Amino acid sequence: MQSMIPDYLAEVLAAVESDTSGELAGYIPELAAADPERLGAAFATVDGEVYGAGDIDTEFTIQSISKPFTYALALSDRGFDPVLAKVGVEPSGEAFNEISLERDTGRPRNPMINAGAITTHSLAGAADLNAAERVARVVEGLSAFAGRRLRVDEAVCASEMEHAHRNLAIAHMLRSHDILTEDPRAVVDGYIRQCSVLVTARDLAMMAATLANRGVNPVSGERVIREPVVRQVLSVMATCGMYDAAGDWATQVGIPAKSGVAGGLIGALPGQIGMATFSPRLDVHGNSVRGVSLFERFSADMGLHVMEVPPAARAVVRSNHVVGAGTEATRVLQLQGGVGFAAAERIVRELVDTAPEEPTVVVDLTMVSSIDDVARRMLLEVARRLTLDGHEVYLVDPESVVPEPDPGDGGRVTVLDDVAELVR
Ligand code: GLN
Repeated sequence: MQSMIPDYLAEVLAAVESDTSGELAGYIPELAAADPERLGAAFATVDGEVYGAGDIDTEFTIQSISKPFTYALALSDRGFDPVLAKVGVEPSGEAFNEISLERDTGRPRNPMINAGAITTHSLAGAADLNAAERVARVVEGLSAFAGRRLRVDEAVCASEMEHAHRNLAIAHMLRSHDILTEDPRAVVDGYIRQCSVLVTARDLAMMAATLANRGVNPVSGERVIREPVVRQVLSVMATCGMYDAAGDWATQVGIPAKSGVAGGLIGALPGQIGMATFSPRLDVHGNSVRGVSLFERFSADMGLHVMEVPPAARAVVRSNHVVGAGTEATRVLQLQGGVGFAAAERIVRELVDTAPEEPTVVVDLTMVSSIDDVARRMLLEVARRLTLDGHEVYLVDPESVVPEPDPGDGGRVTVLDDVAELVR
């Protein structure tokens, strides 16, 4: 049998292929010379499988898709506070190249518009790096996300630099507010080099999958960024990634995303996949026309909207029964599935409502697949309160979903591998 996923991708590409609306990015002459017919889509899973159709190995410049990744590098290299002091996280609802800074502070509203991205470029790497070293840090960081050594397209870079008046104006504004502390021209040059890094749709899907995979590249296994940084970056992509189309995108597609003016578009679905499309013609917002259509299809066809309410999970309490009698009486609560806050609340309520009188209470986790931090703490608190009420508490946990359980403060639990060790 062959997987149906490449067939699906080929089918959606065929469905959007005839749409030739939109324009190439005319303000960068080299980009205006691109082949407008290119079209590709790739998915990378969090365990490193890549599916694709169309032009997924054609190189093009990353452009603004570099912004969330460089923001991640700045947060990692400098820490949150110094970065947040210079770049906000509020959607601006404006075009990517708007000369918009917060009125009093001169702080760019977010790292996805050019003002914010030029600033975050200056914050990547250690503070004492020179301009060339900073570019090297950024290219090395982007390469780690992609899992292969990336390089700069010098022709596109030179072409954009020649027409960079607007970005230079933004950088000078930033310098006048001391948001930038270096030579504005050197920072814009570095930022444009960052935008000129060559990638393929396959690379971009892998970069997005690294975000979806909590910051670990699914193929190389390298931890590129820490989880708090991933959450920050995905949040900013979700709210600001599509510029002045961010609201439409959030409602219709609902996948944290970022576009670039060379025609790339990425989406990262936490815990599931990284997606990328490539089609150079752009809409008025500077987003790829066919890329947006493709993502609308992906989201609708596969229910990928992050606000999609998951189907009701199986009841977490599989059974609640008593075995034995008298001093031997044992209450057995058998749980199942993945346990988060809502499921933990259901377990607590079950025990509150049934108010066990039996001397022994067994909580059987054999069929629990995962338990998150808050649920684990709630379960241990249940154990503590049951101990204080005079019960002997046992956890049946052969897979150690609750490793080294310590209910603290007067609580006591005994871990068993099998409920049969106690109840026959
Ligand atoms: N290098 C481009 C610029 O700064 C990136 C813009 C984009 O991809 N939206 O104008």
